[in-house]
Amino acid sequence: MDFQHGEWYRARMPHAPSRPGIHKFGGASLADADAIRGAVAIIRSRPSPRVVVVSALAGITDLLVDLVTRAVAGDADGALQAVSAYRRVHHAAVDALLGGSTDELRAAIDSASSELEALARSLAVLREASPRVRDHIGARGERLSARLLAAALSESGDKVMLVEPAEIIITDGPYGGASPDLAATRTAARRVLLPLLRKHITVVVPGFLGRAPDGGTATLGRGGSDLTATLLGRALDATSVTLWKDVPGLLTADPRVVPDARLLPHVHVREAAELAYYGAKVLHPRALLPLADRKIPLFLRPFATPDAPGTEISTRRDVGRSPVRSLSAVRDQALVTVSGSGILGVPGMAARTFGALQAEGISVSLIAQASSEYTIDFTVPADTAKHAVAVLRHAFRTEIAQGELDGVEVRGRIAVIAIVGLGMAGHPGIAARVFDALADGGVNVVAIAQGSGEQNISVAVDAAQVSEGLRRIHSAFQLGKLGGGQSHRRTGCDVILLGAGTVGRAVLRLIPRRPERFTAVRMVAVVDRSGAMIDGAGMTTRTLKAIAAAKEAGEAIATLSGATPGTPADILAQLSQRALVRPIVIDCTADDTAGLLTMVADAGWDVVLANKKPLAGPWPRTARLREALTRGGGRLRHEATVGAGTPIILAVEQLIATGDRIRSLEGSLSGTLGVVLSGLDAGEPFSEVVYRALREGYTEPDPRDDLGGIDVARKAIILARMLGQTLEVGDITIDSLVRRGARATREAWLADLPRDDGWWRARADAARAKNHSLRYVARVTPRSVSVQLREMPRSHPLSQLHGSANQLVISSDRYHESPLVITGHGAGPEGTATGVLADLLTLASA
Ligand code: ADP
Ligand code: ASP
Ligand code: MG
Repeated sequence: MDFQHGEWYRARMPHAPSRPGIHKFGGASLADADAIRGAVAIIRSRPSPRVVVVSALAGITDLLVDLVTRAVAGDADGALQAVSAYRRVHHAAVDALLGGSTDELRAAIDSASSELEALARSLAVLREASPRVRDHIGARGERLSARLLAAALSESGDKVMLVEPAEIIITDGPYGGASPDLAATRTAARRVLLPLLRKHITVVVPGFLGRAPDGGTATLGRGGSDLTATLLGRALDATSVTLWKDVPGLLTADPRVVPDARLLPHVHVREAAELAYYGAKVLHPRALLPLADRKIPLFLRPFATPDAPGTEISTRRDVGRSPVRSLSAVRDQALVTVSGSGILGVPGMAARTFGALQAEGISVSLIAQASSEYTIDFTVPADTAKHAVAVLRHAFRTEIAQGELDGVEVRGRIAVIAIVGLGMAGHPGIAARVFDALADGGVNVVAIAQGSGEQNISVAVDAAQVSEGLRRIHSAFQLGKLGGGQSHRRTGCDVILLGAGTVGRAVLRLIPRRPERFTAVRMVAVVDRSGAMIDGAGMTTRTLKAIAAAKEAGEAIATLSGATPGTPADILAQLSQRALVRPIVIDCTADDTAGLLTMVADAGWDVVLANKKPLAGPWPRTARLREALTRGGGRLRHEATVGAGTPIILAVEQLIATGDRIRSLEGSLSGTLGVVLSGLDAGEPFSEVVYRALREGYTEPDPRDDLGGIDVARKAIILARMLGQTLEVGDITIDSLVRRGARATREAWLADLPRDDGWWRARADAARAKNHSLRYVARVTPRSVSVQLREMPRSHPLSQLHGSANQLVISSDRYHESPLVITGHGAGPEGTATGVLADLLTLASA
């Protein structure tokens, strides 16, 4: 077996048997029972003694944070749902993982859950939570995951001891992001742990936590388990510290954003520190501090393939490597500018600026001072921007009053990209290449700074452009070609479903019915007005069914466990920042989504529509959407917008594409109106047939939406625009079948309906006398559109239609003598969903 550097060292040092290896398992490595079993196998294969640091199970810390957010917003139900998800996930892990007696563990899960329930209720009343309370709740993830892993390890035959983190990790506070006291931690950790390690007992420690000065348990800030591991590494003079990750190691960029990110087999501590500080989530920003002056090697290794070498972080300098090594980004920043000619004359301006911010605990990530010294720009986390501005306006109130300073301004929605590499020092032209790459991508640079150490250039850009910026810089420096091997190769398509109403739910139900048909598509997000379920790996058929069932029961997606709350615009903006593979968005809403879709079309997404509004709404919006699709290279399919699953759009498109000239499109395009009018034809009273259509589920909840003709008008507009017209729904006269009570309540209108029966009977009889049938007909030519109730001769194909069937009669130069007639099932959620899925498969396979 290959010795890792540190293990080799240990093997040569028989007098130091208590120097342990530290192994930290992140949340992603603890996703389910199989993953925990994997962790157990890895631990057991490593030399003893060992210390195991454990993160919360995947998603649990987010869930606990969300629990508090909901509770303090007064959403007690939401908070309690989070608690029940917490309980369920941990019990499920016990079920799948442990064979022996699990009573104690289950009792621990239940008591933690009951406590959380009580806390959720109180917070919902108090509407506030101190950092101490938040940490108390946040700690609930690691406490249970560590017990679980300890139980599994012990069941596998290891001697295990679970240690309370507050006994060994000592901090100076504050709650919410405590700083460790290195000396006190060393003393405490050695006192508690060395005796155990000497006996070759495997120590399991919940990560992320430490003792606050008042004796409570504080968290070390998000991602803090990495820091727990390096702290213990330092305290115990560990042979090595290994952070087991869901990625092959430290990569040239976040693979979720830059798909061709590569593994870096070796990274200098200073590079790693810059990356961590500038937002590379893979490493906690302060995780490297404890090892800074030690020779303890740190490894980031893939937990899925434990024999792979991963990344070694050390103080060794590599020579002859590419000057730029890796990229990272800090999101959610704001740019603050202090400006004025007086800056020139006021000594120590920069020092005063940053001194004032530091005194308030506001962290600054990028600082740029124009060479003229008329302005100082810097970025701060967006949620501290207001505070920062207030602090500075106060600090400089005299200068501002005397006109020496113009003032302090702030600009939101900024992100900072960091370009990191030790080799950049003394390598001219790097900044110029960064600018060129960004300019090529149309990414606007807001500010730039180069650290004096020249191991980092940071660039502030518009938040919406950060992913594009990262990808551009990554390819400009050819980081995707570095030697360490590719991180991911993904095929297929990532699908985002917008809307889980009747049609969206039908899509969610149909995919699991024939999973073998949909192997090329991954449903990565289902979005409704409240939020989204997001799973970058693609949801299982079980999850899809569960979402459909929950929506059927009237629950909003944001209330489901693991959901991301937010408006559809927020969610799509978030998703468009990810490295999605050939993304396709399916719009099954009935909302005005043209603007939203234009945004993702600009990001190059393909679009599938069941929603008619983006194509039938105001023409300029439709035109903008089409332009964005052309710009971004995305494709549009919208079979379901006319005639549900019947391939009407396909036929019209193909005729146009092959050079045929369409003369007219004439059709019966409403299932409801078909049912109503063919019932009338057969002698049924108008009111009866409307009630029946309603009962049988053909109509919208309010049948007036169908009878008014607006839905058919939208379809006609969509067809007319395919033929090159640019007119609006408002430009055409629409016959309405709602004769009275258009503004009455639905119930009143329905009850009143029989009063129209006589009028309709006379109308139908008159048509029948002429050997005609009443039909609701949309007629579209290259120059005209009409949507009318018409009497059609019995010989006309539209007269032969029955029930809810749709039909389109196409006359063209080619189909002139005998027109092309397309008839099919034109209504119902499943029919519409079939049209959507046909489009989806067309795009996915092309
Ligand atoms: P853990 O489970 O150990 O806490 P994290 O989820 O905090 O791990 O970090 C791993 C994630 O960090 C990866 O899934 C990846 O998306 C992200 N990441 C960001 N930047 C990088 C990078 N340069 N190299 C590797 N992963 C990165
Ligand atoms: N569970 C904590 C978090 O998600 C700490 C960690 O994973 O390192 O932030
Ligand atoms: Mg982490």
